[in-house]
Amino acid sequence: MEEIKSKEEPQARSLNFIEEIIEEDLKHGKNGSRIHTRFPPEPNGYLHIGHAKSICLNFGLAKKYQGKTNLRFDDTNPVKEEVEYVDSIKEDVRWLGFDWEDREFYASDYFEQLYEFALILIRKGKAYVCDQTAEEMSESRGTPTRPGKDSPYRNRAIDENLELFSKMRAGEFADGAKVLRARIDMASPIMHMRDPVIYRILHTSHHRTRDSWCIYPMYDFAHGQSDSIENITHSICTLEFEVHRPLYDWLIHEIGIYAPRQIEFARLNLSYTVMSKRKLLELVQEKLVRGWDDPRLPTICGLRRRGYTPEAIRNFADIIGVAKRDSVIDISLLEFCIREDLNKKALRVMGVLNPLKIVLDNYPDDLVEEMEAANNPEDPSAGSRKVLFSKELYIEQEDFMEDPPAKFFRLAPGREVRLRSAYIVKCESFTKDPVSGKILEVHCSYDPGSKSGMPESNRKVKGTLHWVSVKHAIKAEIRLYDRLFRVENPDNAEEGKTYKDFLNTDSLEIKTGYIEPSVQSATPGQKFQFERLGYYCVDYDSNPETLVFNCIVPLRDSWAKKEKAK
Ligand code: ATP
Ligand code: MG
Repeated sequence: MEEIKSKEEPQARSLNFIEEIIEEDLKHGKNGSRIHTRFPPEPNGYLHIGHAKSICLNFGLAKKYQGKTNLRFDDTNPVKEEVEYVDSIKEDVRWLGFDWEDREFYASDYFEQLYEFALILIRKGKAYVCDQTAEEMSESRGTPTRPGKDSPYRNRAIDENLELFSKMRAGEFADGAKVLRARIDMASPIMHMRDPVIYRILHTSHHRTRDSWCIYPMYDFAHGQSDSIENITHSICTLEFEVHRPLYDWLIHEIGIYAPRQIEFARLNLSYTVMSKRKLLELVQEKLVRGWDDPRLPTICGLRRRGYTPEAIRNFADIIGVAKRDSVIDISLLEFCIREDLNKKALRVMGVLNPLKIVLDNYPDDLVEEMEAANNPEDPSAGSRKVLFSKELYIEQEDFMEDPPAKFFRLAPGREVRLRSAYIVKCESFTKDPVSGKILEVHCSYDPGSKSGMPESNRKVKGTLHWVSVKHAIKAEIRLYDRLFRVENPDNAEEGKTYKDFLNTDSLEIKTGYIEPSVQSATPGQKFQFERLGYYCVDYDSNPETLVFNCIVPLRDSWAKKEKAK
């Protein structure tokens, strides 16, 4: 819990390793003491919580050091990219609370310039057109311990390369017939340096450049050069790009352009979920979830729909920090962050999910009282509301036991509880289904002198229950979510199985809840604490007849408990 305390006084937190690098660069006046980062998504899917970490990091650093952050779409693969994804990415970054101002860029804007860069390499004898098939190329690549074999096309004359490359651009060859490769070293111990492909032929329309191009730069050829073109000072990426760095450095050096500094950090992995866009796309396309914004997914739009706030996600990113080594973060830490945020903000209401009727035998049949209830005990400025009380109420089935253990402080025969913001009631009798043994109805007496807030109501009882008035409660659809996967690490749970084998088929449960009428006019996105249960968010599937709520997270804080046990 150490780190959680420190976020309340951010100055007290020691610098992370990226901040140390930046401060060192600032101290030496590198780049004219300018800080410029970028967030470079490929528009081939929706963003997830891992991207949120990268967004918070890049925009957060720029903010801290009065720098700038570009939003750059690395759109070099027309086969998988779509405008829908571009739009969703912009919406998500904005929702997280970040602003790229007028710096919305696309690698595809640089296609002409990248082509010129490729020509520079060819003219220097540092790139060549290769006719090998993909299979031939992969066969001659060697292994990390065995050097590769030179391509028979490696020593093509510069003029021939220039001519062939221009014909590639002109559309004279079919997909896959030729590629442009960097001419580096087929024996390099670094596999990425073994004459990597830098351009390929793809007769595919691009979501921005349409049919202007039929050759496209590989990601590795576009990414570093785009950073350079944009004068990025600190190019922050995830660890798997560490092994690409020698190639990026080589390309920048040979082309002879400005060199940003690449810094790698460990990607975020979360337990009980998957985070790769490819897998998320599969779940969506195969209808294993209800779309990209399914509240069970770790996508930003899924978390938003579930009821997560940008503040909670930013705080989460802050708490997990940045590291140099890969690890898996317990999903309950994310849940802790949303609880903490909503505890301060969410209005309290009462709602019953597993109703058990109680009848107050000594309460007047037609009396309806308005009980004063605090909207948020954590925030007196949230005020209070009136909750209607009457003779017949619902409480939770779990709050009554016919034959309870001594430590059960809820309702049981002969025992008393307080109904929150209302009266103390005592269980006098109950009826039960003789076949199933199910409790059907509980009869209570209420103590008229125990009304909450009244001077004579000081009498204390151990348990307090939430309730709703049967005739006033509104019915709502309640969607309860469990983890999407049954195991902590669905990607590597068992030899020979895939993550899909570990889907939790019971991860969505739909119930009818009875909620106090004050939520009647709630609108999608609004969040509440259902007292004693958890946090709930109004879903946009709500309609004038029925409100639909997503359970964001139950109140129980499993993460804090686990931390304590350590
Ligand atoms: P995925 O592997 O999920 O498909 P990606 O790395 O291909 O993601 P990009 O669109 O290339 O997705 O990512 C944009 C930026 O977000 C990159 O800088 C990438 O390093 C960063 N990023 C992606 N996933 C994570 C993660 N799990 N944790 C932190 N940063 C991430
Ligand atoms: Mg990527």
